[in-house]
Amino acid sequence: GSTYTYEDTIAAIVTSLGGQDGSVAIVRLSGSSAVSIAGQLFRPARKSRNGASWQPKSHKVEYGTVVDSSGAIIDEVLVVPMLAPRSYTREDVVELQCHGGSICVHRVLQLCLQSGARLAKPGEFSMRAFLNGRLDLAQAENVAELISAKSSVAAETALAGMQGGLSSLVHTIREQCLELLGDIEARLDFEDEMPVLEQAEVVSKIDSMWERLQEALGTARRGELLQAGLQVAIVGRPNVGKSSLLNAWSQSSRAIVTDVPGTTRDVVEADVVVGGISVNLLDTAGIRATDDLVESIGVQRSKAAAKGADIIVMVVSALDGWTPQDNDIFEEIWECPTSLQGGTASYSNGSLSSSKIAQVPSILVINKVDTASPTSVILPEKVSNAFSTIVPTCAPQSVGLKNLEAALLKLVGFGEVTTGGRQWAANQRQAEQLLRASEALERVKASAQQDFPIDMWTVDLKEAAIALGQISGDDVTEELLSSIFSRFCIGK
Ligand code: GDP
Ligand code: ZN
Repeated sequence: GSTYTYEDTIAAIVTSLGGQDGSVAIVRLSGSSAVSIAGQLFRPARKSRNGASWQPKSHKVEYGTVVDSSGAIIDEVLVVPMLAPRSYTREDVVELQCHGGSICVHRVLQLCLQSGARLAKPGEFSMRAFLNGRLDLAQAENVAELISAKSSVAAETALAGMQGGLSSLVHTIREQCLELLGDIEARLDFEDEMPVLEQAEVVSKIDSMWERLQEALGTARRGELLQAGLQVAIVGRPNVGKSSLLNAWSQSSRAIVTDVPGTTRDVVEADVVVGGISVNLLDTAGIRATDDLVESIGVQRSKAAAKGADIIVMVVSALDGWTPQDNDIFEEIWECPTSLQGGTASYSNGSLSSSKIAQVPSILVINKVDTASPTSVILPEKVSNAFSTIVPTCAPQSVGLKNLEAALLKLVGFGEVTTGGRQWAANQRQAEQLLRASEALERVKASAQQDFPIDMWTVDLKEAAIALGQISGDDVTEELLSSIFSRFCIGK
């Protein structure tokens, strides 16, 4: 492809700032003057024969010093030149490895800027890599996702994306769209000279493209969970052992375990990693109908926490069985209030009631199984139907936690991922475009099946190609690019 040449050479500290000092910090230069700027500051330890200016060899590390304009030594460095096109940006890149700690590296960066470099904007190295065809847009987004990954599964997923999983799928389908579009447009121009387009053939092509798009869309939920983490709300009446469960799970003392019913009124949070996925646990106050103001705030919070959750874990006690209070909570969260008069209807006026959260996957934990058998808890049928899994636990002894984690992973479709290999996932932006392409293809299929004139098919085929081009970056506006790359960190 064509390589952009930039007037300006950019520079940034590419190693992390803040936090603990590392032993090495790196300043990266990229652009047409990268070598000449580095040459102004860098004095190789091994002297050139005839006093000629610095002649870097690509991918060969050199040792020397960085000096300021008066010749004073600023730092000892290792210099790594990566000459175009064999670099991340496909431009000339020079990296200066300085001593860690912020002083040296900032002074070296300052010298680069005084010598003619400009401070790189967030994501600007990656943007140049994209514009020079080193990465497509989906791969570039995965670079940012890899850096911000909060769990090993999220990191592996980003890596799989960088290696081109989604990119190649999108590239293939986009090519197929454009090919079909070409076939159709040729017939619009030279109708008489071309064989008629077989409707059945077009429909089957569209069907196979559409199916692959569904596969890609299927990964989006996984991608979303990996980026955002999983929100799990632990609900239940006071004293069943919610705090004990959270405690055992997080092995921290952030949740206060107490004997007094109803004392945990605030939502207490803890973050745990389950099967490589970051999980945010919310322990909520017991949900119960009460006049007590503080307690009813707790009830509201519980409902709110349950509403935002990806998964609800309801805890009951084997010792007490299924109590009327448990039933109140169950109805508060899983049953819509109007259904109390309206029989078993889960819909009111044809639409799902807003106060009902039954669509959220739910697990029932029967705690305190050290005091009574979990089978002694008799659940109403509607209750056992509402929960996909029932897990017996004894929280203080951490009994049943492994089963609870397994149930959780299975519920979000991660059961196989922890043991299996790398799998890429579409992010939200990509999923929106996948959906747009998928819907456009459905319209093309409908037009073909209804024998609409073929010029009508082209509109939707173009739409599908544009949507896919927004994923790969073949079809993007400058606004979209800057909004994507500005979310990157500086130096990437
Ligand atoms: P919460 O109000 O639902 O958060 O319940 P807590 O976690 O505060 O626990 C209430 C009481 O039950 C405490 O005295 C805990 O020690 C006790 N408890 C919690 N889990 C178990 C369990 O599995 N077995 C037994 N025997 N006691 C438990
Ligand atoms: Zn509690």
